[in-house]
Amino acid sequence: AIDSARGAYKTHSWTAAPLVADSAAAKGDSAELINPAHPRDVVGRVTWATPDTVAAAVAAAERWDAPAPARAETLNRAADLYEAHFGELFALLHREAGKSLMDAVAELREAVDFLRYYAAHGDSPAGPRGTFACISPWNFPLAIFTGQVSAALAAGNAVLAKPAEQTPLIAHRAVQLLHEAGVPATALQLLPGAGEVGAALTSNPGVDGVAFTGSTETAQIIHRAMAAHLDPGAPLIAETGGLNAMIVDSTALPEQAVQAILESAFQSAGQRCSALRCLYVQQDIADEFLTMLTGAMDTLVMGDPWDPACDLGPVIDAEARAGILAHIEAARAEGRVLKTAPMPGTGHFVPPTLIRVDGIEDLEREIFGPVLHVATFRAERIDAVIDAVNGTGYGLTLGLQTRIDDRVQHVADRIHAGNVYVNRNQIGAIVGSQPFGGEGLSGTGPKAGGPLYLDRFRAHPAPVQQAA
Ligand code: ADP
Repeated sequence: AIDSARGAYKTHSWTAAPLVADSAAAKGDSAELINPAHPRDVVGRVTWATPDTVAAAVAAAERWDAPAPARAETLNRAADLYEAHFGELFALLHREAGKSLMDAVAELREAVDFLRYYAAHGDSPAGPRGTFACISPWNFPLAIFTGQVSAALAAGNAVLAKPAEQTPLIAHRAVQLLHEAGVPATALQLLPGAGEVGAALTSNPGVDGVAFTGSTETAQIIHRAMAAHLDPGAPLIAETGGLNAMIVDSTALPEQAVQAILESAFQSAGQRCSALRCLYVQQDIADEFLTMLTGAMDTLVMGDPWDPACDLGPVIDAEARAGILAHIEAARAEGRVLKTAPMPGTGHFVPPTLIRVDGIEDLEREIFGPVLHVATFRAERIDAVIDAVNGTGYGLTLGLQTRIDDRVQHVADRIHAGNVYVNRNQIGAIVGSQPFGGEGLSGTGPKAGGPLYLDRFRAHPAPVQQAA
């Protein structure tokens, strides 16, 4: 079934344009979207929103005034439509975002889970805030996009959704399905575009709150833009980057740890905010462990995401690839590359790479690709490792491989991280039961897919105390 779908979808071309209630406003420049694995494969075309489109969308936005049970029913119907259009969404995740089979399946599942979870928890005596801008990244173009939008809608807000400029086609298809399910055109509008469109939204006084996932730097820019026109209590719900570490001590099970590292650092070509960036291995076991790890890296299959054997596909675009390769080259010049592989001829691929560092403080920024850094530590210095990781200011995920029970608690008590993963990989969350989100430079909280998240999309009017 996948093989025949492959033929059909490889020739299919999608189009996306602003979905604005005032359709006269949908006229901007257009561009082609290119498959990151096959630069000659044109996935479709997009027409960009302009500042005028944004102004028209803000003016046309209307809160979704259906009662909460009707909103829930509509969002559940949208979840059904996502499932019914599995093949098409799947093809878009492959072709527009370069997702492997496993990643695409997991992402579709997560998007559906968000719809059903927020549908189930949308009812509340508190009202909507008004109009929300939902600004999303390209690395989970369906799941994060859908999570933000469905939370804002479940609470009854009007939504202006701006997907990342790399992945407007899948967002466009998702909004069409939400409209088809019954979300009114005035309650959900789509504004494809780059940072300027996001900036036009966040500086518009008609916007009452922003849900954002992307880089820490952009979150800070949005924070300032909102401060210029919104009251200080207006919500910015931001999920940003991380500099995530994993600690492997001498009691870890090596095979389990190696498998967890491969998944955490290289799955999705390292393009997850939760991904492992800096591995700390206890010195006593380091030589043998790193031999195992580099050997295991040889088994990773990099290539066409349509191939079910593919472990990692391409990175998102040529610019991302160039930035990651420059980082690898700088490390190579210093003799710190422990393992890499030859580049394939075409496509935006970066081979899984291991780089030696003295510690996480050597990483100046998050490298958003399949590059893992490794340092060693002496057993009695584990607290210094925790201090160094906390010292980055980020606080998203931490991995720990140990069989010392006391150590789990010791580390968990000291680390500043939103999610701690013990003796497993450090990617993934479960909507509802294991919500995801960070601290410090990694985000404002509350965690997506958790009970507190929806509350930020609601207004809480002052209680009225009236004497007779
Ligand atoms: P990434 O590294 O994931 O591309 P960005 O923070 O650049 O992170 O992008 C995340 C989202 O923020 C994208 O949709 C992008 O277009 C948008 N964006 C970028 N600059 C701005 C800005 N100044 N204001 C609002 N949104 C922006």
